[in-house]
Amino acid sequence: MLRDSFGRVATDLRVSLTDRCNLRCSYCMPPEGLQWLPKPELLTADEIVRLVTVAVERLGVTEVRYTGGEPLLRRELVDIVARTSALRPAPQVSLTTNGIGLARLAVPLAEAGLSRVNVSLDTLDRETFRRLAHRDRLPDVLDGLAAADAAGLRPVKINSVLMRGVNDHEAVALLRHCLERGYELRFIEQMPLDAQHGWSRKNMITAEEILAALREDFDLTEADPGERGSAPAELFLVGGGPARVGVIGSVTRPFCGSCDRVRLTADGQVRNCLFATDESDLRSAMRAGAGDEELAERWLAAVRVKKAGHGIDDPSFLQPSRPMSAIGG
Ligand code: SAM
Repeated sequence: MLRDSFGRVATDLRVSLTDRCNLRCSYCMPPEGLQWLPKPELLTADEIVRLVTVAVERLGVTEVRYTGGEPLLRRELVDIVARTSALRPAPQVSLTTNGIGLARLAVPLAEAGLSRVNVSLDTLDRETFRRLAHRDRLPDVLDGLAAADAAGLRPVKINSVLMRGVNDHEAVALLRHCLERGYELRFIEQMPLDAQHGWSRKNMITAEEILAALREDFDLTEADPGERGSAPAELFLVGGGPARVGVIGSVTRPFCGSCDRVRLTADGQVRNCLFATDESDLRSAMRAGAGDEELAERWLAAVRVKKAGHGIDDPSFLQPSRPMSAIGG
């Protein structure tokens, strides 16, 4: 098992399929985009499936979440999902996406064994979307969401990042939109992971602010904390339930002590934390002929040294050199 020195066990694998994205959300990357990884450095579909197989069959991973960059941009996505779903013991396979292209891909993905999706939606206003993401694609996202729901990729979960002076007035409208459609909304505190290093604590909308805004219009009661387990979101029942809303206070209410995640970047590096400054290079080892046992050993060693916490509050905190889009959110 992927056990670290503090006794935490990683069972939830996030795999970035590409660092490219068709949006330019300002909390993630600059409007002009980034220097993308050169193709030879990207794992091929076969290499991804091989590493995921090692994780599932030898290392106790039970959940595989494909992400990016934008995973729907990866042509072989349906095939990768199908091959992952066919592994035994069968992992739960999910996707974090901006939803653009989901209208076309939701059914093939569901048929390939995808169990559910997390879709990012920060605003319901087309002009705000264009300003925040630097692309006029809100209708595509909404169509993608509806298609995911119709294809049974439920519960459809929505991730929203609120930014001061941009979309922070939309917390209530976003929740109402999700409640009306049966989507589960989670607000995520903005983290210092943007390529342009524009994050500031002062501009970050905190979990507390989000809850205060929601409580102006909704009755929120804490859902059974025993249910939370290793999930990053604190969950609240809306109007007594069963509808729920989550708040992920990554910065002000960190949950590192129960973290069960490990990450594989699109170029085959294992990261034991979003904020890790070290990576373990499985791609080079694999391409140099390492067998599955050696890959598993390297993976175990990478997780063993996971730090106790992300340390955003430490004076010595250093933002990772890779942005969220390259790490895989
Ligand atoms: N492109 C896909 C998407 O939009 O969901 C997957 C990758 S994206 C990096 C994954 C999630 O990370 C999104 O929900 C996005 O809002 C979130 N994210 C990106 N940068 C962030 C940041 N600086 N702080 C908090 N969340 C962030």
